[in-house]
Amino acid sequence: MATRKIGLFFGSFNPVHVGHMILANFMATKTEMTEVWMVVSPQNPFKERASLARDHDRLHLVELAIGDTPNLKASNVEFTMPKPSYTIDTLAVLRDKYPDREFALIMGTDNLATLHKWKNHDIILRDYDIHVYNRPGYEPGDLATHGRVTIYDAPLMHLSATYIRKTLKEGLSARYLVPDAVAREIEASGLYAK
Ligand code: ATP
Repeated sequence: MATRKIGLFFGSFNPVHVGHMILANFMATKTEMTEVWMVVSPQNPFKERASLARDHDRLHLVELAIGDTPNLKASNVEFTMPKPSYTIDTLAVLRDKYPDREFALIMGTDNLATLHKWKNHDIILRDYDIHVYNRPGYEPGDLATHGRVTIYDAPLMHLSATYIRKTLKEGLSARYLVPDAVAREIEASGLYAK
């Protein structure tokens, strides 16, 4: 059986929105990757951020967003790792835990441009494929032509979680900005209302 190629899409997903889902779905269906795992970054205990919802609430929203989509998954792998977690360490944990899978990274051209500052970026580039989506306004930089890097023109939505939190704080609905199940849960739980 061919190795299953899994793309890792990291984020705070505070909350997850349709921009994230469009991209995750693009990567899981239109590239050589067969699955995308949405890795929810935990709250940094040393950086109290009032606007960052609790780890499990954000994970739950990602699970609701995914629903029964077969090639998307929510991952809480970083919840139990020392914080702050570095991508190279998360990759090592996942490799250990799932030796029969091949992991790759998903990022925007904004992140690719600063990848040379990441912990062990040389090892990341040696050992992992990187699937990059063009973000308007961000030049990919020198790594664009690296053998491990593939750049895509994915459908993008000009939307951020910050905008959604602001909308909810104004007492408005997040309907259409987030998947229906996520909008219902946010409404029912009052998350982000205060
Ligand atoms: P915030 O507004 O709180 O900073 P965000 O909407 O940018 O949040 P993150 O959780 O920080 O969301 O994003 C996770 C990943 O998704 C990041 O790599 C980010 O670059 C990417 N991303 C964010 N918004 C979009 C979007 N509209 N389309 C595609 N990718 C996005």
